[in-house]
Amino acid sequence: MRKAVSISLILLCTSFVFGQTRLADTTDGHVHILSAELIRIWKKLGIPFSRPDEYYSDIDVILKNTAVKRIDLISMGHVYSSAEFGGFKNERELVENENSYVAASRDKYPKKIRAFCSVDPLRDYALEELNRCRSKLKMDGVKLHNNANQVYLTVPAHLERVKKVFEFAAKYQMPILMHFDNGHRRFGGPDVKLLIDSILEDLPPVNLRIAHFGTSGGFNPRTKAVIDAFREQFRNNPRLRKHTITFDISAVALDKDSEGVRRLTDGEFEELAIYVRRLGFERITFATDYPLYTPTEYLKILRTRLKLSEVETKLLLMPKN
Ligand SMILES: [Zn+2]
Repeated sequence: MRKAVSISLILLCTSFVFGQTRLADTTDGHVHILSAELIRIWKKLGIPFSRPDEYYSDIDVILKNTAVKRIDLISMGHVYSSAEFGGFKNERELVENENSYVAASRDKYPKKIRAFCSVDPLRDYALEELNRCRSKLKMDGVKLHNNANQVYLTVPAHLERVKKVFEFAAKYQMPILMHFDNGHRRFGGPDVKLLIDSILEDLPPVNLRIAHFGTSGGFNPRTKAVIDAFREQFRNNPRLRKHTITFDISAVALDKDSEGVRRLTDGEFEELAIYVRRLGFERITFATDYPLYTPTEYLKILRTRLKLSEVETKLLLMPKN
């Protein structure tokens, strides 16, 4: 008995050390930073912040907490036009300041960070801001949040706007991180089809990463519908092959309730494990949605709850795009 305990302790320590080593070599594809101004506005709206401000806003603290080789630092500029915020007279200025803050944080550690510029694609200034991010701030990627900005590809005017952003990203070879789910109860397969038929098929190669496996976090029938719809297209649509399309696993394997999304049941974790293997690790980006989890915390959940083998863990942590 005692011997068994000590052997399993050794195994535990060994895997912990290996886990650390690999995390230090990997990329976290979804890390947030908030400017002091954004934290102030959110606090005024009554949004609770459980940690000191620097946990969310100080790039040195964020790099220390994430402790990986590289992070994709995602701007929250899109929130200023969301309904939750209720409208600002100086909205554009706030969006610019937020994106500039992310770029300045990247400038401190240009080798460790890629900066993603965030805009509401439905705003008239969207492309101008993206251009400023690219040419002046030298930002690396584009972030879209279809839920915060209530973007519906089923609305032709929205589709046109989103298409313009995708064309911009393809032209300048900037990766797109897209929070696809817009919160509508019917969101799912048809939206995937619209994205592919109306935007991706005729677009020059683009690097697209779908946040949170396609929905707004957690794992539910909608997540499955989105993944199933993409998988069917990967199998049958040769016009998709020119693109790099991956799925970020952040906020999917929730072991705690978060922002109105409940934690997964044991059965859901089991089903998620099946979906992860079905999708394939080459299509999955390791990402945490920090401050939701740190990479160490989230990898532990993924490894234990999805019962990932050593090889699978390695494949998951391999930087994809
Ligand atoms: Zn996020």
